[in-house]
Amino acid sequence: MSLQGEVALVTGATRGIGKAIALALGAEGAQVMGTATSSNGVDSIDKYLKENNINGSGLVLDVTSQDSVSALMTSIKEITGQAPSILVNNAGITRDNLLMRMKDEEWDAIMETNLKSLFRLSKACCRPMTKARKGRIVSISSVVGEVGNPGQTNYCAAKAGVNGFTRALARELAPRNITVNSVAPGFIDTDMTRALSEEQRAAICDNIPLSRLGSAEDVAAAVVYLVSDAGAYITGTTMHVNGGLYMG
Ligand code: NAP
Repeated sequence: MSLQGEVALVTGATRGIGKAIALALGAEGAQVMGTATSSNGVDSIDKYLKENNINGSGLVLDVTSQDSVSALMTSIKEITGQAPSILVNNAGITRDNLLMRMKDEEWDAIMETNLKSLFRLSKACCRPMTKARKGRIVSISSVVGEVGNPGQTNYCAAKAGVNGFTRALARELAPRNITVNSVAPGFIDTDMTRALSEEQRAAICDNIPLSRLGSAEDVAAAVVYLVSDAGAYITGTTMHVNGGLYMG
């Protein structure tokens, strides 16, 4: 297994893409610290890690709170004896509305959860990674950060921001042997897209060359590649996992 000895922090690991990433990193031997916003979520992470014989724990985290991030880092140190060597910024939400109707709270919630979270967590993790002269940071952006989507000015702006943040931090941390990348999923079958109607899903599939929504495991495979030795020479890039929906 390629990730033996690594400690991987995955935000938003209760379900969907984050859960698939936590399981895939664990299957490669990483010790997994998966986060949830509630204690029920923590229990569910503990349960699925145990069921899959993965060494790891669920922990509470609200990515919009600096205090919560600081407490998380302390807990990880206590549990694992070290800081994360792999950070996956996965937690994310949608607050869709046409710009003309969008409330300040809808804009701010997206920026706090989907973009400022990267600032908080990457900052907390990159100091120990710098000392260790080793580390991997992967953030989950989205195809719509490249192509846009009506009703999602907030979400698209944040996801485009994820890619810009990634390129700048990749340049800052490359001299310390730390790679920083983003993975941009297309339409993936999770709770986020289950909110769409059957008609909307069919219309989306018509535009995907591979004619299906992606699975959370499709995205997790890209993350595993980037954090493994195989991805050692890849930094500052956005890896697209979208069935051909957008070809760059
Ligand atoms: P999901 O099923 O809705 O799960 C979202 C995760 O984020 C949950 O674990 C949730 O925790 C966590 N979360 C939400 N608010 C949080 C907060 N304030 N602090 C910490 N954690 C928080 O989402 P998903 O579809 O798997 O998406 C995962 C990532 O992929 C997101 O960044 C999303 O934007 C991106 N993405 C998804 C798609 C797609 O088609 N699904 C496409 C492109 C990009 P709780 O369960 O505790 O609430």
